[in-house]
Amino acid sequence: MTPNTPLERAKDGVAAAVNRFADELEALSHRIHDHPELAFREEKAASWLTEFLEAKGALVERGIGGLPTAFRATVAGSGPGPTIAILAEYDALPGIGHACGHNVIATAGAGAGAAIASALRPLPFGGAIQVIGTPAEEGGAGKVKLMEAGVFRDVDAAMMIHGRPGTQVWRPSLGIVKVKCEFFGKAAHASSWPWRGVNALNAVIQLFVAFDAMRQQLRPDARVHGVITNGGAQANIIPEYTSAEFYLRAPHTDYCRELLQRFEAAAGGAATATGCTVKVTADPIVHEPLRPNAAMAGLFAQNLQRIDFPEDPDDGEAGYASTDCGNLSQALPTIHPYIRICPDGVPGHSREMAEWARSPLARTGMIAAAKAMAMTALDLLANPADLARAKEDFARGAS
Ligand SMILES: [Zn+2]
Ligand SMILES: [Zn+2]
Repeated sequence: MTPNTPLERAKDGVAAAVNRFADELEALSHRIHDHPELAFREEKAASWLTEFLEAKGALVERGIGGLPTAFRATVAGSGPGPTIAILAEYDALPGIGHACGHNVIATAGAGAGAAIASALRPLPFGGAIQVIGTPAEEGGAGKVKLMEAGVFRDVDAAMMIHGRPGTQVWRPSLGIVKVKCEFFGKAAHASSWPWRGVNALNAVIQLFVAFDAMRQQLRPDARVHGVITNGGAQANIIPEYTSAEFYLRAPHTDYCRELLQRFEAAAGGAATATGCTVKVTADPIVHEPLRPNAAMAGLFAQNLQRIDFPEDPDDGEAGYASTDCGNLSQALPTIHPYIRICPDGVPGHSREMAEWARSPLARTGMIAAAKAMAMTALDLLANPADLARAKEDFARGAS
């Protein structure tokens, strides 16, 4: 028996509302899944999510922070107080669609906001709850752009969920320095005048070979990987221009920067070996690792227990990924729990994961996540001591 307090009644109310909206949320999740949209071009997803939130009573602003596909849906409280944000991602991956399950993130966040708006208008507590639609997680660092535009200036704490093969409230993420490398050679006929050419494809191949050798001497938790984005135009022309993109990842951004220095040396060596010139351009946005927040994670875990949704032990099968939510977590108290949407062992960014992202398991995870996020946001508004502990944890975690 949960005590009959305004907070517990509010939690029961939002859980019942999520159950009422469950079919609608699943249909919305599938519609987003069926229409995968890439970073900053998530027009359909943004318009479907905002229509849904508006219909349930939230006050919607579209195109916030200078990003046309970002949005904010606000449910106001009974007076002044803190602002708690629930984040929604909805971008897909090139070629493999919703293989990161952002359709589930989107509908869990929108479901939480819609349930609060519908069951508790106005909120029985001071402050406000916002659902913030954050475009371009995959490759565009949309949250960093929204932070720079001031969208999170008045937010006291933020949360989102991410799907994976297991429910873990805390899981680390890696920092990333993203880097582009271009080689400039000289075009010539590949058969009749090859000695007059300078081969930029050989340079990029040399860089990958050097990079693979370098990997042997990296810390085991670092990850470096890349793709050739331009490998030449046609086989009968010595390639005069090639380009490649790499992610240099590690649990600490200091080591990411060290990786960048080593990368620059390898790129210079590849250019020298082939007679090309090279240009290395590091993305000015550095992805930061997630800063933990035990107080908020604890509230989220208690709310999962309240709805009988089990946490899983880490099966140890997977390494860590990265998220632009890391940067937000370094700016204000933030959690990024993982929710099971597939069986053990399904890799993220795989075609299997894209299938699981529209499965009954994904529906179950999405519903649980919507409830747990709505309840955690209510905890933070109703109990100033909980928010104070979240802020203390944030301050303690400064690195
Ligand atoms: Zn992803
Ligand atoms: Zn993702």
